[in-house]
Amino acid sequence: MQNQPNILLVEDDSIIASGLVYALKGEGYAVTHAASVSDALSFASAGSYDLAVLDLGLPDGSGFDVRERLGDTSVIFLTVVDDEGNIVKALEGGAEDYITKPFRLRELLARIKVVLRRKTGGGEALSIGKVSIHTSEGKAYIEGMPLDLTALEYRLLLTFANNKGKILTRTQILDSIWDSAGSFVEDNTLTVYIKRLREKLGSSADIETVRGVGYRVNA
Ligand code: CA
Repeated sequence: MQNQPNILLVEDDSIIASGLVYALKGEGYAVTHAASVSDALSFASAGSYDLAVLDLGLPDGSGFDVRERLGDTSVIFLTVVDDEGNIVKALEGGAEDYITKPFRLRELLARIKVVLRRKTGGGEALSIGKVSIHTSEGKAYIEGMPLDLTALEYRLLLTFANNKGKILTRTQILDSIWDSAGSFVEDNTLTVYIKRLREKLGSSADIETVRGVGYRVNA
């Protein structure tokens, strides 16, 4: 992969660390792992990182000691349960985010994606409600979690995103998804597609039915 984001993982628990290294590499990131403040500092002075995931409790100090030496690298701290003092300190110290142990791997991966995307400016992302659409990737996300959409559902979502606040007639929508999907969508099938898309979006975005006319998506 080109321009792999480069992540520095500082975690002294070898089980957590090996799981994270495996998962991060699986997501296409380059990962450097350090198990102590001193190792982390030598990696930090030797290279540059897009993101650092820093455990707060390390054998020879804390994640804050590493943070200080990372310049403008984005940071996500790993904290222990309800350590409010440290969480406040972490956020005041410029951390992009924190996650409390024990955490779900998927949740950390989602937060990493959000932070990296924020950092890179997000490209030409479109949004509706809490859904962001990355046209360069052809994917949509809800708060960093990828949405599993069919090609046609994606086109439908994109059509709404490009026409926010406007009423779209069923014919306009059919024309739009017909063009790009290359397959014929019947008028009564559109209702089914809209229903499925609504189910996938949940409360993250609202597709309003305008009776007798079509549909509208606001915001
Ligand atoms: Ca630790």
